[in-house]
Formats: sequence, C-alpha cells, structure tokens
Amino acid sequence: MANVVIIGAGFAGHTAALYLGDALGKTHNITMINLHEHFYYVPSWVWVGVGRMEANKTRFPLRPVYKKMHVNFLHGKASAIHPDEQYVVVELKDDGQVKQVPYDYLIVATGPKLNYDATPGLGPKYGYTQSICTAPHAEASRDAYFQQLERMKKGETVKLVIGTGHPAATCQGAAFEYVTNIHKDLVRRGLRDKAELMWLSNERAVGDFGVRGVQAMYKGRLTSSEEFITAVFKEYNINWEVQKGVYKVDANTIYWEDYDGRYGETPYDFAMLIPQFTGMPFKYVGKDGADVSERLVNKAGFIKVDATYDLPYEQLVKNPTAWPELYQNPYYDSIFAAGIAFAPPGPISQPHVTPNGTSITAAPPRTGMVSGIIGRIVAKNIIDLIKKGRMTHSERMTEMAAACIASMGDSLWDGSAATIMIYPVVPDFRRYPNEEGRDLFVTHMEMGLSGAWMKRMIHTTFMHKLQARPGWKVIPE
Ligand SMILES: Cc1cc2nc3c(=O)[nH]c(=O)nc-3n(C[C@H](O)[C@H](O)[C@H](O)COP(=O)(O)OP(=O)(O)OC[C@H]3O[C@@H](n4cnc5c(N)ncnc54)[C@H](O)[C@@H]3O)c2cc1C
Repeated sequence: MANVVIIGAGFAGHTAALYLGDALGKTHNITMINLHEHFYYVPSWVWVGVGRMEANKTRFPLRPVYKKMHVNFLHGKASAIHPDEQYVVVELKDDGQVKQVPYDYLIVATGPKLNYDATPGLGPKYGYTQSICTAPHAEASRDAYFQQLERMKKGETVKLVIGTGHPAATCQGAAFEYVTNIHKDLVRRGLRDKAELMWLSNERAVGDFGVRGVQAMYKGRLTSSEEFITAVFKEYNINWEVQKGVYKVDANTIYWEDYDGRYGETPYDFAMLIPQFTGMPFKYVGKDGADVSERLVNKAGFIKVDATYDLPYEQLVKNPTAWPELYQNPYYDSIFAAGIAFAPPGPISQPHVTPNGTSITAAPPRTGMVSGIIGRIVAKNIIDLIKKGRMTHSERMTEMAAACIASMGDSLWDGSAATIMIYPVVPDFRRYPNEEGRDLFVTHMEMGLSGAWMKRMIHTTFMHKLQARPGWKVIPE
C-alpha cells in the first residue's frame, strides 16, 4: 500500500487530492495536510473586498469531501520535510501534537508565502496597506474601504491606490479586478466623484499582467491588452502609473523607484497593494540532519522541478521546453510541486533592471486554472507510477490555456467583465512564430455583460466541482 501525502488544499493540492482519492483512495493511503479546515475559492475574495459577497460564501468544509473521496485529512501546519527518510513533520492544530507523516510520494502545493516583510510598511498586520490575498485580509480591506465611504458621504474626496507593493510582485489580474470593482461600487453608491482612483504597478505596460501582455483579435482588429486595458481605465477615469517598484510605505505615502532609477512618492488614503510572493518556508532535513534545501528550493523558496533554470531571458523566451512538464524535483523523484509552489524557470514578462540595480519585473503568475491543471497532471502521474511504474502525463505552461475574467461589478444586470483567453499562457515562438508567440485564433479579448455572467457561473461551477459533486470530473480545471 502506497502513502501519498499532499501539503496544501488550494486549487493545485485539492484538485490532486480529488483525482488521487478517486483512483486510489480505497486501496492506498492518500493524506491531505492543510492549515485550514475549509477550501477557499480565492477569486471571489475580490467581491468580499468590496462588500458584495460574504467570506463564508467563498468556502466549504474539506472533511466531508475527503471522507467521500477516501482521503485522510490532517488539520495542521507542515513544518519540515525529510526527503531522504521520506516523511513530513506536521504540527496538528486540534491537539498541538507533532506528528511524522511518512510518504512514498509527496506533493507540495502550499501556494505562496505573502512576503509583506520585503516592503517595510506593507500589509494589514504590521503595515498600513490592505490586501485581498486571504479571506480575513479581504474582510479587513472591505472594512477599511467602508471607512473611506463614510468620509466620501461627508463630502471629502479620497485617493484610493490599487496595484502591486513590490518590484517583483505578481497577481496583477486580481488587483486589476479589485480596482474596477471599486469603481463600479462607487458608481452604484453615487460616490464616484468623491474618489480619485489610481493603478500603480510594476508592469512594463498597462495590461502586461506578468504574461508579457497579450495581442488578440478584438472587434475584428488585432489589439494589444495595453490598448484594451488603457481604454477601460480611461472610460472609468482611473489614473495609472506603471514601471514602478514600491519599496516602502508609511501611513500616508507609497514610495517607489521607476524604470529610470528615479525615486518618487504617491500619497494615498486607502491602498490595496499585492505583496511579493515567495515559497512557504520549510525545514528541508537530510538523513544526517543537514540542511538539504539547496537540492529542493530556489532562492525564493519555491520547489525546483524539471525546468531548465538560470537561462538568460533572451534564451528562455526562445525555449518553451525550459518550462517543466512533470513538476517533479530532479534530485528527489518522490517529490512533486504543484501550483504556485513550483519554481518557474524565469519571468514571462520582459525583465528590467534600473540604473540602481533594482529588478522591476512582474513575476510569472500561476493562476487558479494553471494550478488546477498542474494538480491534475501530478496526481495522474502518481497514479500511473503506483499502477504502472511509469508516468504518462505532461503539460507545460507553454501548452496550457488560461481564461482570465476580470469582473467589473458583480451584478448580472449592469455588471461587466473583461475576458481575456490566452493560449498558450507562456508564449511559444517555435509553434507560433508571430510577434506574440501565441495562437491568435484562440487568444481573444472581450468586454461585456456576458463575462459577468460567466464569472458568477464559474464561482458556482467550481464550488460544485471541488466538492466532488456529481459530474465533477467532466468540469475542466
Ligand atoms: C484576490 C485574488 C483573486 C484571484 N482571481 C483569480 C481568477 O479570477 N482566476 C484565476 O485563475 N486565478 C485567480 N487568482 C489566483 C489564484 O487564486 C491562485 O493562482 C491559486 O489560488 C493558487 O493555487 P495554489 O493551490 O497554488 O495555492 P493556494 O490557493 O494558495 O493554496 C495553498 C494551500 O496550502 C495551504 N498551506 C500553506 N502552507 C501550508 C503548510 N505549511 N501546511 C499546511 N498547509 C499549508 C494553505 O492554507 C492553502 O490552503 C486570484 C488570486 C487572488 C489573491
């Protein structure tokens, strides 16, 4: 009987757990270790952050799902991995017990550590800015936004700044969705004229989103995501500043460096800035007690997999096979990483270093869809290894599609959404020798009410799928 252990029940780990439980749960030991007792549908935290959805509508309890799928559940924090002896150390939340959980195969799917410490003054706990990167953060962001609404109702004008809070931040899509939802909410409340809205980000250009921007057919014309998103900002009267790496925040001011190495300041009343993401910090302990982290993680703490690392950007961009296909650690073949936890070979967007030596470069996003696909690939390969002794599944981010639907208000009557379909996520200039490196037939941008319906439908469909309700397997990640 094989032991398969998964750390982290997000899009990647939970998807893997469903496939593993379904195929092996009755005959092998599948164990999920997760910090929380609930699965959280992260994309809907944008709506929590403007008070349009309660946080409890974005979650469901994991235990009943795992019981049905024959997956053991440990509510706790994994703190160390012993890759030679093949066990994980877990601090259980319920009774404080420390447990060693043995594995034959391990999937690390812990998502990111939200590294607020990299930007002094950033974040809701020890700093001054808001975040929508956890459910409690999204609730706190909503409360801080509501305080600003009270000021506006009294006739004051306030400045709301949304974007990225570190030169290497990612997840611009979530921040973009937040700024447009705030715009719509203010319009609905009749307070839009009392707020100055500003987009502040580390992107090379508006609409870059850490994926090198997108060129797609829109209304019969080849259009760039820069033109598309700029048009949205103009229509919504949102000011924008890009090519800015935020390095410090205080109670009233955001401090940044720009591409030219100039330093500047942006005053604010309310700011929601996405922090740097790093890997979850674990102790990686060898047989003799030595630290073996160099074999397992890159400098940022993400798990190294079957990617080609350290290529200069100019070479990486021409080499789609530098992106991993199995998500397996090359040194310890029993360890896989899925979702945000795996170390990408480099950025997708063109990097930039300022004359002062600061890298202002959007890190590559591993979105929910990408994370779910990787979770499935890894699970299917572990099922293969256990049943047939060899892996038969693979998918690189240069072969994956992603749909990015940024809602602009949640209403199904007057809401809207910018829908950007990208294929492949990471450009592949060998298969698509155009300026974009993408399939211009599939890659597409749309704006309209139908996107708002689709976004709402995806929330409901995914909550259904991820609870392993009837037909879950036919709903794609
Ligand atoms: C506000 C917001 C909106 C977004 N909108 C979209 C969208 O519309 N579409 C889209 O595709 N993507 C979206 N994303 C991105 C998407 O949410 C992430 O890509 C996705 O959540 C990553 O999945 P993951 O499984 O890698 O990590 P996570 O979802 O972060 O899950 C990791 C899990 O691991 C657990 N964990 C961490 N450390 C430990 C430990 N030591 N021990 C035990 N458990 C641990 C965590 O508690 C968590 O349950 C959005 C992100 C945000 C923040």
